[in-house]
Amino acid sequence: MPDAADILRLESIKVHFPIQGGLFDRVLNRPAGAVRAVDGIDLNVRRGEIVALVGESGSGKTTVGRVITKLAQPTGGRLLFEGRDMTSVQGTSALRPYRHRVQMIFQDAYQALNPRHTVFDIVAEPLRSLRLVKNGTQLAERVSEALAAAGLNPPGDFVSRFPHELSGGQRQRVVIAGALAVRPELIVADEPVSMLDVSIRAQILQVLIDLRDKYNMALLFITHDLPLAWLIADRIAVLYLGRLVEIGSADEITFNPRHPYTIALRNATPQIGGNPCRAELPALQGEVPSAARVPKGCRFHPRCPLAFDRCRQEEPPTVEVGSRHMSACWLNER
Ligand code: SF4
Repeated sequence: MPDAADILRLESIKVHFPIQGGLFDRVLNRPAGAVRAVDGIDLNVRRGEIVALVGESGSGKTTVGRVITKLAQPTGGRLLFEGRDMTSVQGTSALRPYRHRVQMIFQDAYQALNPRHTVFDIVAEPLRSLRLVKNGTQLAERVSEALAAAGLNPPGDFVSRFPHELSGGQRQRVVIAGALAVRPELIVADEPVSMLDVSIRAQILQVLIDLRDKYNMALLFITHDLPLAWLIADRIAVLYLGRLVEIGSADEITFNPRHPYTIALRNATPQIGGNPCRAELPALQGEVPSAARVPKGCRFHPRCPLAFDRCRQEEPPTVEVGSRHMSACWLNER
């Protein structure tokens, strides 16, 4: 059901990449298949809400983030921002207002920062390219405001530094400041703390939570780490091989998971105490299979210790298993 407070809505989003076939495929003009990186995702994010998208490497979570920030084009479905269909909007000038309102924070702050630019130029760059300031005074004010909001205080101590003169945590704060400078309404943060020390992680998470509280900004937090998702998010969506398998409040997903994959992820995290599911399932074995070879039926069945015949034949529907808690598993019918 669409919600009036939704700032972002994904409807059946698909990203399929065609596979280059062999000689015979080309001679016979025969499709060689596709990598189904994202395979029909429905997800909404409300204004001021933090939603965590959780999954292992290869689950498609970064591709979802790239679709939202218009760095990747979906091959099916719709992307709605404040009710407006943005799916086929393309081109620098057509996308300028959208890029102003939706920003992305990347995982590797060192890669994301130009080593030859000062902190001032890095944070000023989106303000200049999106033409959001009228003069140098305004530019300096906005850069200073963004650095302070990202916890780089006093801003004057940082503006003339280069990335190599900053610690890992400070570099990630500069990346956050660059995203904040344009005053976005939605930030997509792709594993923003995974390369930082544990002590710095908590500080960066607190910066993101404070920004949400202060500006009512929405945040899609992409991570492989369920405990981290629980710490920061209002809701958690669990992604497996291009499909959402479970979604609900952070507490429900963490302490009352209903999908075997979520339970397995949960069991792999001993730092969350009082796990009622620990005895029910063995730890997760193996890795997410290639998105070029999605199994028939439930795509989790090759790794699921609870799989039965129907799981190998039919894909389970997503059904309500609690208050705003959805799960896609045939066991929900039993
Ligand atoms: Fe496991 Fe079957 Fe549920 Fe899939 S549908 S998660 S294979 S029990």
